Amino acid sequence: MRERLALSRPVGASSGKTGSWRTFRPVVDSEACNACGLCILYCPDAAISEDLEVDLDFCKGCGICANECPKKAIEMVREERD
Ligand code: SF4
Ligand code: SF4
Repeated sequence: MRERLALSRPVGASSGKTGSWRTFRPVVDSEACNACGLCILYCPDAAISEDLEVDLDFCKGCGICANECPKKAIEMVREERD
């Protein structure tokens, strides 16, 4: 897979972590995804890896990845609360 660079960098340590306030999380449909990498580039927290794994410690649930995905392969699903 070709190398892609996110436009931003995650803020390290606890100051960059999301905590428990996120209300939606992205779920990637690997069948629909064409591996274009736009979600990696646009995520403002650089929370999506080259393997399209979302690091939920840093994902803010903003939905930019889902909005930018040309294949509509990312669904924002509501977080479960205990
Ligand atoms: S929802 Fe926002 S923060 Fe989370 S992976 Fe998508 S673009 Fe990044
Ligand atoms: S933007 Fe959509 S199609 Fe492109 S890599 Fe991300 S999930 Fe896959």
